Parts: sequence; C-alpha cells; structure tokens
Amino acid sequence: MSQQGYVATPPYSQAQPGMGGYPAGFGSSPAQPLYGHYGGQPQSFPAPPTGLMKPVSSPSGMPPSEVSSQYGSNIQQNGAHPQRYPAPPAAAAASPYGQPPNSTYHTMAPQAPAQQLTNQMGSMNLGYGPGPMQNPQAPPTSPPAQQPFQTAPPPTMGQSTLGPPPAGPHSPQMAPPQSPLAGPSMGGHPSMGGHPPMGGMGRPFPGPPPPGSGGFQQPGPGAAGQPGYPQQPQGQFGGQMAGPFQGGAAHMSGPPQKKLDPDSIPSTTQVTEDDQAKRGGQVYTTNLRGQVPPLVTTDFTVQDQGNASPRFMRCTTYSFPCTADLAKQCQVPLGAIIKPFATVPKNETPLYVVNHGETGPIRCNRCKAYMCPYMQFIDGGRRYQCGFCNCVNEVPTFYFQHLDHMGRRVDLYERPELSLGSYEFEATLDYCKNNKPASPPAYIFMIDVSYANIKSGLVRLVCEELKTLLDNLPREDGAESSTVKVGFVTYNKILHFYNVKSALAQPQMMVVSDTAEMFVPLLDGFLVNFQESRAVINNLLDQIPDMFADTNESETVFAPVIQAGVEALKTAECSGKLFIFHSSIPTAEAPGKLKNRDDKKLINTEKEKTLFQPQKGVYEQLSKDCVSQGCSVDLFLFPSQYVDLATMGDVPTHTGGSIFKYSNFQVEMDGEHFLSDLRKDVEKAIGFDAIMRVRTSTGFRATNFFGAIHMNNTTDVEMAAVDCDKAVTVEFKHDDKLSEETGALMQCALLYTTVSGQRRLRIHNLSLNCSAQLSELYKSCETDALINFFAKSAYRAMLNQPLKTVREILVNQTAHMLACYRKNCSSPSAASQLILPDAMKVFPVYLNSLMKTGPLVGSAELSTDDRAHQRLIATAMGVEDTQLLLYPRLIPLHNMDVASDVVPAPVRCSEERLTDAGMFLLENGRSLFLWLGQACPPELVQRVFNVPSFTHLPADLSSLPVLDNPQSKKLRSIIDSLLDQRPSAMKLLIVKQKDRSEMLFRQHLVEDKGPHGGASYMDFLCYVHCEIRQVLT
Ligand SMILES: [Zn+2]
Repeated sequence: MSQQGYVATPPYSQAQPGMGGYPAGFGSSPAQPLYGHYGGQPQSFPAPPTGLMKPVSSPSGMPPSEVSSQYGSNIQQNGAHPQRYPAPPAAAAASPYGQPPNSTYHTMAPQAPAQQLTNQMGSMNLGYGPGPMQNPQAPPTSPPAQQPFQTAPPPTMGQSTLGPPPAGPHSPQMAPPQSPLAGPSMGGHPSMGGHPPMGGMGRPFPGPPPPGSGGFQQPGPGAAGQPGYPQQPQGQFGGQMAGPFQGGAAHMSGPPQKKLDPDSIPSTTQVTEDDQAKRGGQVYTTNLRGQVPPLVTTDFTVQDQGNASPRFMRCTTYSFPCTADLAKQCQVPLGAIIKPFATVPKNETPLYVVNHGETGPIRCNRCKAYMCPYMQFIDGGRRYQCGFCNCVNEVPTFYFQHLDHMGRRVDLYERPELSLGSYEFEATLDYCKNNKPASPPAYIFMIDVSYANIKSGLVRLVCEELKTLLDNLPREDGAESSTVKVGFVTYNKILHFYNVKSALAQPQMMVVSDTAEMFVPLLDGFLVNFQESRAVINNLLDQIPDMFADTNESETVFAPVIQAGVEALKTAECSGKLFIFHSSIPTAEAPGKLKNRDDKKLINTEKEKTLFQPQKGVYEQLSKDCVSQGCSVDLFLFPSQYVDLATMGDVPTHTGGSIFKYSNFQVEMDGEHFLSDLRKDVEKAIGFDAIMRVRTSTGFRATNFFGAIHMNNTTDVEMAAVDCDKAVTVEFKHDDKLSEETGALMQCALLYTTVSGQRRLRIHNLSLNCSAQLSELYKSCETDALINFFAKSAYRAMLNQPLKTVREILVNQTAHMLACYRKNCSSPSAASQLILPDAMKVFPVYLNSLMKTGPLVGSAELSTDDRAHQRLIATAMGVEDTQLLLYPRLIPLHNMDVASDVVPAPVRCSEERLTDAGMFLLENGRSLFLWLGQACPPELVQRVFNVPSFTHLPADLSSLPVLDNPQSKKLRSIIDSLLDQRPSAMKLLIVKQKDRSEMLFRQHLVEDKGPHGGASYMDFLCYVHCEIRQVLT
C-alpha cells in the first residue's frame, strides 16, 4: 500500500482484533469516576461590576435612567430540569432514564430486508447503443420544435453526440472540453484529458482548512501531502474496454437511436418516485450495519435499533473501501453529513436522556468514546472492550450487569446507550465551563433604526411582531415557559441599550456612542425574563418606532453591535443568540467599517475569489469571541444595494448562525416572508455553546469539516449554537486498513447547553460496512449525500481558486468516480456506452446543477451579495436542503385531483415539461414560483386568481387570493405544506409565461442550459461521458 502523503498520524496505534469477537486482554485502570454536581441550587449572577454603569441621557422622550446595582430581580433559576441522580445502583437498574423504554427495542434480530439492496447494483447500465447519435448538427435531444438545446452557442456541448470517442469522426463536437465548465465569458481551458489538478481520493480540494475559517489550497501534486492526481497511473484504465461488446444496457438498450430521447437519460424525479414506491410509508429499522437508508425525499418512519437515524447522519457511502489505495482509486469521497439536532417527527421516539449520576457518562479510558452499542462486554460483564480503540475497560461497579448466554448484558434493552444509535447523557460539572453549571441562554434583539429601516416600516414591523413572538421562545419539553432571557438594543451610528426590568414603570435607555471600545452600560435589567417583564417590554416595543421616526441618520455600525452582544452575554455568564436586523453596509467610523469593493470586472478572472473572501481582522476576532462565549449571530439583512455580504456574513457562518436577506424590502410585499422566517428562527429547536467530536474505529478518522462552525484545532468542532437545520459535513480518510469483519464505526458526541441551561451530551452512533470490493462501495453510495459533500467542498475551494479550476476539478473527479466503476464493477461493454452505477446514476444532473448555481457560474448578471449569500448558507445545509436546492421540485397543477390529498408528482426540471396550457409550482427550499402558461384554461385562472383569464392577471401579483373553491383550496394547501416543511420561508413569485420575471424562474430549470451559463443536463452527460472515456484510455 502506498499511502505516502495520505496518512497522517494515526490516533490509535492499536492493532485491530475485531469488535465482534471476545479477544482476551486486560485493559488499563477502570474509568475514573468524575465527581460532580449539576443543576442543584438556583444560581445567581455574581455581583455586577458597578464601575461599568454609565447612565446617559436619552435622546428622545425617555426619562434618564435610574441605575440600580442590584441583580436581585433577575436571578435565574435553573429549575426546568429535575435532579436525576444519584445513579441507579447496579442491582436496581430498572429505569435509568426518564422515558419508558420502547418495546420495539426487543426486536433486534436482524430480520431485516437483505434483498432491498440487491437490485441496486449493476442493473442500471446506461448504454447509448453502438449506433451513436448520427446528426451532429441537430441536438439529439430536441425535436425540431423544441428550443432549449438548439440555443447552445459554440462553446457548449450543444452538439451532444453521445457515441464516438473524441478521436472519432465526431471529435469536433465532442472534444471541446471547455463547454460545461467555462463560464459564459470564458475562453476554453486546456484539455482535461491531461493532468488536471487533483487532490487525493475523494478530496477534490485538498488541504486542511486554516484555523477558524475555510481552508483553501491550490490543488496540485503533493499539496498538503496528498497524492496528486498525476501519481495515479493513467494507464491503469487501459484500453481493455474497447471491444466489440454490446453493453449490458439494461435500461437503455434497444435499437440504435437517431435522437436521444430526453426521457432516456436518468431522471431524478423517477429515482425519487421509485424509492418512495419501494420504501415510502415503511418503518426503517436501523439494526443493520452498512444499511443504505431510504432517500431523503422518501417519506418513512425510523425506528432506532442501534444506529443513528438517517435524519441525524447520512453517508456518501455505507460501505467504505478497506484500503486507502482503493479509496484513492475510486475517488468517491468518504463523508458523513451530521445534523445533530434534526427534527424528529412526532411519530418517532424522541431521544432518551441517560443519567449516570455523579460519575457522568461512562467512557472508554483510552479514546474517550462514550458508552454505546459498539462496546463489547466480556469477562462475565466485568469488563468491556471499546469498539473504537479496542481498549479493554473495567465496568464501574454501579454499572455492572450479568451477561446472557449470547454474551449480551441482560439489561441491554433497558439502557438506551447499549441498544440505541442516538441518545443523550446528562453532563456533570466536568463538562461545564469553569466547572460551573451553565445558565439558560439569552436572545438579544438588535434593531438598526437608521433611516432606511425606519422608512421601509421594518422597525415597526419587528417591534410589533416581537410582542407576540416572545411568547414562543424555545423551552424544554414539558416546561411551562421558556427560561430564555431577552434583551433589546437599537442602533445606527451609536448604540442604545434598554433596561426592561419588571419593576420599572417605563423602560430606560442608555446610549453608548463610543463604538471603538464597546461595553454594556447596564447589567441589571438588560437581560430579563419576558413573562416577568412583559409590560415594560411591550411598552418599549411600542415606543421604539416613534422614538426614531424622524431620524435622518443613514450611517450604521455593525461590528460594535456584535461586540456589544457578546459583552452582554459575557457579563451575564451565559450563551445565547443575537438577532440583528440590519439595513446597509456599515460605513460609520468604527471598528469593522466596510467599503464597497464590489467589482464585476473581477468575474471570471483569477481575482474573482476575492469577492467572496471576507475582510479579516475585526470580524475574524469577533467570530472567535462569539464562539468562546457561545454567542450565535443571526443576521437579517434589508439592503437596497451592495453590503459586502461576504464579510457581514462571516460571523454568522462561524457561529452556527443564519443569514436572511430581503433586498429592497417593502412591508407589503416582503413583510410576511420576513416574519415567517423570524418566527421559525426564534422558535426553532437549538443547542448552545456546543462542541462536537467525531470518533471513529481504528483505520480511519475524520479529517475535514464543513459547516457554520469554528475550529481551533483539527478535531474539535465548535459551534456557538447548533439548531435543527444545521448540518456539519465530515470527511474521512484512511490511516490504516479497515476490516470487513468489524466494519467502520463512528460516534458523534455533541456537548451543548439546552435552552433551559442544562449541559448535555448528545450521542449519535453509526456503523458502516467495509469491503475490499469497490462494487460494494458503489452499490452503497448515496447521491444526495455525495452532492452535499461536493457542494460544500466546491464552495469552500472557490475562496482560493478560480471558478474555472473549481469546476474542472468537480467534473474531473466525477469522471474518475464513474470511470472507476466502469472499469472495475461493470460488465464489459462498448466504449460508446455510458455506464453509471445505479446508486449514482443521477449524480451528473446534480453536479451540473451545482456548477450552474450562482456562486459557481461566474456571471456578471448576478449580484455579488446574492452569490456570497448562497455560498454561505449552503455551507451549513443538510442533505435534504442541498438535494432540493440542486434539483427543485416542479409540480404540475393544471391536472391536479382536487378530491385527493396527494400532491401531484413532480416532473423533470426542464422547459420541455412546461405546457402553454399548464400551471406549475416550482420550489427549491429558497424560492417558490407559480408559473402560468399563456394558454392556461380561463376556468382554472378564475378559480385560483379570481380574474377571467391569463391576460387579466396583474403583472406584480405576489399572493394568491383566498377563494372558496376546491382548486384554490388545494393549491393553497399544497403551498402551505411546502412552506411548513422547509427551514426558511419562501416568498411566492407568480410568473407569467413570456414575462420578464420568467428569467428568474428559468434558472431553476436545472436540466436546461443555464441562463447565466452552464450546460444542459444532456450536454453535460455527453461531456462527462467523454471525460470518462479519456480516463479509460
Ligand atoms: Zn476506546
């Protein structure tokens, strides 16, 4: 095995005897008991440093403040959680955790459907018949009447002849490799058949991230010790495939075709439908190692039987190759996408909370993995061997239990940590900052009251909404009210803090005008319980819009606002979140002042990346401060022009925060959209001050992380907060051989503070198979997870490389993945046939769509801020979100069955699927369109819009009237249910065929040529096919 440059220091040097067995050996000393005490008395804050008090006069109608130094009314009770220890003695281990055991744990027997995987492999050989597309002039996909493929200008693969090799007679059409990669205004690039920059296996963009931010390195041979692509023997894909074979073209065989039917290329909607038909409505039990879950689009119920639900963890493949060489050969990235707080549907069991009392969670002495189903009890139950590092540990006395004749603990099914994939531990003081119990978090609302926000009506809207929204702050399950504290700041060039202590008759304002050294001018009364201070808070929210109604201040600060929030949380010794409602680029004289550096001339140049690189310095330091305090930042932007979103979004994206953007905000048009986002954001499930560690069994380890995270070292993923929509994508690398017998185990442990201030550990375990056969890997791939990985790595790489290079690498790696399959796993067939692994057959359409997304497309028609925004939010997306983003749902509505509850099946995202007489809904999780064809039946238009016909529809329609007829009701209920499912709200855009706004809609028809550049799916597939053949020869 040549792993030079690929292997870094292995974390564990143990040999691997095999988890399933009962190897002899005695471990080191028993687990050290950790003595701690948690959550006992109500805690009070330390005496406030009164020296900081700085009463100031109010600029408007508010009375000067009366400063009190007492913290008394603000004592925080940590009371939402009962004390649960001491731990149950070994003999009385009846109910070690709070909720009743679920009877279904008793069905661990591997009765599961082994056959469900059997049909995946190899059955989908896409052969494009030996008779290639004959007509190099007419795009094979389009009947003459259809336009989309004929509009392809020369640089694209418009003449998509799917057949002869580049060297063949049609090479002029097939050869120009620049097509799908080149941006609209780019020239060609060197042929990719040579030695494009290429990272190590599964890692198109090598190099560890620099601390604290995305890592970006020029790829190249030997970069960061990665084996460069050129080291891969080109010849290994030698020409043995060239032969007179008729391929096993299961799906696409048939007589040679003159034109390629667009229906014949792999369809995402078909794949989605098939999976729903096969696995939808079923219970997915997680008792099997290496089991491939249903697709994210499929509706299924999860029963945890020892592995984490796919809602929490999904992998790019569920069968890892045994060696680094194999991994390098196939170039399929080995990754997991972890969404630690994923929402669990009501019909599934919420996570159990385990309390081991004063000792805290039981952990392996050596690798510190937490007790889990992969620990093997031996020696009559007195010891256990760690599944991750193989260390043999003593079982603590209180935890002892006898083993049954199978060698399993008799209390196996009574303890979540022994039988489930996911559960929580109560953490002891050792897991708390400074060994002090954590406090409930605080939410601080920071409203920009400069001219723009006042004029647009935003300030009044926010203040009005908060009066009711604050009743819905997140709370512990079963708790009567939320313990989350709230605070309020307004600002323009200076900051105003408010004392809203319940004892006050009127809120009090304190102004800080020196933004260079931000401090919080009041301690008592700034962060309060909403229920207690409701009257004074409502009073404040009533006053704010009027106080600043006559403002003409248009300049704002930004970094000092975040700084103020962090300082407030520091003073209160709690974690929390800042909700910042901001209008413009911060140009006022203060730290973090920004200037307009937007420059469209940089697009498609080497320097384009600088548009997306944040301004460092102040913001970098702020991110660190925020993370160390557990302060997450959510940014709501209401810009009317460029705001340098790349920089303004830097702190949110390193603190588990979110960025919302409403350009040219108007209350009437955008108010509801914004309020829906705000409500979801305030109410969502969330954990604070989190640190995540991903442990693995021997032979591989986590090497790279993508998400709204911060990393101070190479292993600890820090998140100031992590909510139910945020995911971290993890890449794994081999550092030794993996064993088919023991598989590949991973454990994600997330230490965090709950919304009531409890410190907890959330554990997700997942076991994968390992195989020396690459066919197993390809069979167990998950395209949706793969594209999530590719999207995140490409979006990171574009900070350091020209977009052209990034796109080349994406295609190159795809071609290698597919070529490796063809060479090693498929039956021999003609070189003219494109053969794709079944589990990856729609990967090309996703990849092509990714390359056409705003960030990667390199078009001057797109706003730089929009591109930066899309790049940043994708960084924290889970698999569902990237799937939908890259392949939107296009739902035909003109034929819907109003009597049924069913949403009509989506069709392929292509103009060809639209009909003049049709009405379609398109959504991608970020945008929502209702498209109407010119010949849409007047009856339907009448019933949905209450106007007589298409021509009567006003151009600026932005919402649907509420009408009492089945069509209107059905359509609105479909839209409501879509909005309900998505993490962020979507504004409905109604688009009339041939209207100017149609351009916005068309860029989401991802199978077509992109309006801002990028190939059609058909052309791209041809192109990839060429690339594969180049790899193979
Ligand atoms: Zn261990």
